Amino acid sequence: MSEEKNLNFIEEIVETDLNEGKYKSIITRFPPEPNGYLHIGHSKSICLNFGLAKKYGGSTNLRFDDTNPVTEDTEYVESIKDDIKWLGFEWSNEFYASDYFDTLFEYAVTLINKGLAYVDDSTSEEIATLKGTPTEPGKDSIYRSRSIEENILLFNEMKDGKYKDGEKVLRAKIDMAHTNMLMRDPIMYRIKHAHHHRTGDKWCIYPMYDFAHGQSDSIENITHSICTLEFIPHRELYDWLIEKLNIFPSHQYEFARLNMTYTVMSKRKLLQLVNEGHVSGWDDPRMPTISGFRRKGYTPLSIRNFCDKIGVAKRENLIDLSLLEFCLREDLNMTAKRVMAVLDPVKLIITNYEEGKTEMLTSENGPDESLGHRSIPFGKELWIEREDFMEEAAKKWFRLAPGALVRLKSAYIVKCESFEKDSDGNITAIHCTYIPESKSGQDTSGISVKGTIHWVSVKHAATAEVRLYDRLFKSENPAAEEGDFKEYMNLDSLHIINNAYIEPSLTTANLEDRFQFIRKGYFCLDKDSTTEKLVFNRTVTLKDAWSKEVKKG
Ligand code: ATP
Ligand code: MG
Repeated sequence: MSEEKNLNFIEEIVETDLNEGKYKSIITRFPPEPNGYLHIGHSKSICLNFGLAKKYGGSTNLRFDDTNPVTEDTEYVESIKDDIKWLGFEWSNEFYASDYFDTLFEYAVTLINKGLAYVDDSTSEEIATLKGTPTEPGKDSIYRSRSIEENILLFNEMKDGKYKDGEKVLRAKIDMAHTNMLMRDPIMYRIKHAHHHRTGDKWCIYPMYDFAHGQSDSIENITHSICTLEFIPHRELYDWLIEKLNIFPSHQYEFARLNMTYTVMSKRKLLQLVNEGHVSGWDDPRMPTISGFRRKGYTPLSIRNFCDKIGVAKRENLIDLSLLEFCLREDLNMTAKRVMAVLDPVKLIITNYEEGKTEMLTSENGPDESLGHRSIPFGKELWIEREDFMEEAAKKWFRLAPGALVRLKSAYIVKCESFEKDSDGNITAIHCTYIPESKSGQDTSGISVKGTIHWVSVKHAATAEVRLYDRLFKSENPAAEEGDFKEYMNLDSLHIINNAYIEPSLTTANLEDRFQFIRKGYFCLDKDSTTEKLVFNRTVTLKDAWSKEVKKG
């Protein structure tokens, strides 16, 4: 096995198991409940489960944990599959816990026959009362001593639809005084007359999580069943059921869930944001869902690298959103095509440039040679950013100001001669002269300037809507705040620019393309784009405090 150091604790377990010959190869699984879209927290679990199998030559099943008919939907199933593929992973098998309903029913019958399960007619309130507290033992239900024959009969009647929801449950018979509350005769089956997205109306009893999960692992010969820390108390029950049923001994291991700043990470909360219209949908670019990040322009590699960097911990913590952005910039810096777009335009007129002339200039698409080159039209009238001009130059101002020289990216050096203002004092046009010998790549002017600004040709520019996003919450940890987490939403999380000017090459952009709008950030085309109107999302700004810290260190 690998001699590599820095294994995470689960890799250590896997290596030991393989070295000791406990398994020939490992099988992991990713078990989402199809009751919502995947969020960035899930990608942690995906990278871990699929990553382990990849590293150690094993396999990973995708198993939909669809034991709760009421909240589940095939729309969610499809989105989950799509997101996992997009992240770059392939499952060996696509399974559904509902495929095992027959087997699980048989397992339940086995336990009844061993005197290890019984049908209880108590109400949920009675069950809760009899359960005791962590410091006080529980009490036996009066139904606990039913005969095996009676239990078999009643359980079959439950299955056959003889009883209403909540009238009866099937419970494991363990120990009502157990120190682990989950071992005090946990419920295995409940009655629910509900339509299931896969099994339809075949069943009106459904297994509880604890009775379905470990058994499904075992049916699939899962060697390492990895889940989040809140399932630690469930492990004892997981092991008990496997032992009593004498089935394949899967083992459960727990790691810390991913929590991230300025967002919430629970499907229930995300569903609220969608249903109450706080966002445009599950894939709103402000959502912490994989589909949201995807639409915003994130790359699969950046998310995988992020999951690698945060590691696999045994204690919960809150990860800074800026670490994810750092990983994203690292990737986009290498792969995004550099283009020019002007978000807050003001007109620049080159007085000594020939009227009506168009010159095609060549510009590199990025720092990496493989990105190639493109040509950009240049002419007498250009759009530049309003913020690149100052009426009175400040100290160390290297951009445009009366009398100042600046380079137009991939074009010429220009000198500002004068400007025009309207009656409100807004700059309406800037007049410049250009230096013909200063053309980029063949500059013989001998003039050196400190500033370079971007531009687009007025005659050739296309227009676009540009959407700038900010964090969705003002609070670092909205779920931990007092009151409703939605009170901590940032009401300014979306800023729309209706009329940005973009270079013509952008009119053929595809949804998969990633761009750097030079000096403005990383952007991608949004799916709302039409042939009449292009829409771009800002994926991330170019820099932030985090990247400076990392570079210093
Ligand atoms: P939520 O609380 O957001 O609804 P969940 O745990 O109920 O999440 P599941 O669909 O049951 O969602 O999760 C599928 C898998 O993803 C589980 O193994 C779960 O442990 C894991 N998972 C869910 N959230 C996170 C997270 N924030 N970090 C790491 N793993 C997670
Ligand atoms: Mg869950």
